[in-house]
Amino acid sequence: MIPVNKPILGEEEISAVAQVLRSGNLAQGERVAEFEREFAKYCGVKHAVAFSSGTSAIHTGVVCAGIGKGDEVVTTPFTFVATANPVLFEGGKVVFADINEDTFCIDPEQVRISRHTKLLIPVDLFGQLCDYEPLYELGIPILEDACQAVGATKDGVKAGNFGNMSAFSFYATKNMTTGEGGMLTTNRDMTADIARMFRHHGQDGVNGYDYFMVGNNYRMTDISASIGIEQLKKVDDFNRQRQLNAQVLNEGLKDIEGIVTPKLGEGNSHVYHQYTIRITDEYWRSREDTIQLLKRNGIGSGVYYPRPLHLFKQFGYSYGDFPVAERVSKQVLSLPVNPLVGESTLLRIVELLHTKE
Ligand SMILES: *Cc1c(COP(=O)(O)O)cnc(C)c1O
Repeated sequence: MIPVNKPILGEEEISAVAQVLRSGNLAQGERVAEFEREFAKYCGVKHAVAFSSGTSAIHTGVVCAGIGKGDEVVTTPFTFVATANPVLFEGGKVVFADINEDTFCIDPEQVRISRHTKLLIPVDLFGQLCDYEPLYELGIPILEDACQAVGATKDGVKAGNFGNMSAFSFYATKNMTTGEGGMLTTNRDMTADIARMFRHHGQDGVNGYDYFMVGNNYRMTDISASIGIEQLKKVDDFNRQRQLNAQVLNEGLKDIEGIVTPKLGEGNSHVYHQYTIRITDEYWRSREDTIQLLKRNGIGSGVYYPRPLHLFKQFGYSYGDFPVAERVSKQVLSLPVNPLVGESTLLRIVELLHTKE
C-alpha cells in the first residue's frame, strides 16, 4: 500500500542519533540548543524554543498569551484537536469561526471578537498560510498554528513569522520529523523566556530549583534534536518534491467534473503537508467509493478531518453552527503527495479517478 504519509530518514539521521547515544547526554542539551538556533535562522525569527511535541508548543503559546478562566480564543473548527485542547486546559473558551472552502483556512470575515477575546489561533492547514492581513486589523494577539506548514511562504515570508508566536510539529508524519517534537518561534524576548521556563517546571535554567511560575516538563531530547538538525537541512528538498508531485496531480485532475483541486491564497507557496481535493456531488463517485477504488489498487488516502471540532460536545456547539466546515469535512480526501511517491503512482491515481465504472 502506498501510504499518505511516511517519514524519510537517512544515514545522516542514524549517525547523528548514534553520536548522541554514545555521548551519554540524552536529555535536553547541546543538540537542542543547536536545533533551536538553526530553526530560528531557517524561519528568520529571533527565538525558537524546542518542545516535546507540537501540542506542548501550542499549550505553551496559550500560557504565554495569559489565557485563563473566562478568556475567549478564536480558532477554526476544521483542524486537529491539538489546536484547541490547550485552551480548554487553561480554562478558556474556544470560539470557532467558519472556514474558506477554497483554502480550508479560517475565514477572517467570520471571526467575531468580544471584549473577552484574548487570542486568535489561525491554522496554516495542509501546508499553506492563512489570510493574515484582515486578522491583524482586529488587534488581537495571534498564535500561528504552523504545525503543518514548515517552509511555507506568503510573499516570500516563511511560516513562523505570522503571529506573535508560531507553533510547529515534528511528529513522524509531518514534512520534517524528530519522531515526536515541536517548536515555538517568536521575536519577543519575554515570550521566549516564559516559554523556556514553562517547558522546564517554571525554572529559569540558571538557578536550580527556583520555581518562578507553574510549569511542565515539555522538553525535547537531544536524541530528537539530532534528528531535527539533519531533517531541517533536507526539508526544502522534501517540500520541492511535494510541490512537483502536487503539480502532476493538479494537471491530471483539473478537468474532472466534481473534483476540486487545492487552491492557493494570494502570494502563497504551498508545502502540501496534505494534498487535499474536494469530491463534490457533481463527481460520479462518492468519496467512500473513491477511497475503496484507490485501496483496491494499493493506494492509501486519508480524510482530514471527518468531523469538525464544534461537533464534539466539549466545545459546546451544535450541528449547523459552521456550515462550510461541516460541508467540506464530508468532501475532503487527501491523496499521497509525499516525496517517496513516484510519478507512476501519481499518474495511476489520475487514471483511476478518471475511470467511470
Ligand atoms: C500535528 C498537529 C498538531 C499537534 O502536533 P503534535 O506534534 O502531534 O503534538 C497541532 N496542530 C496541527 C494543525 C497539527 O497538524
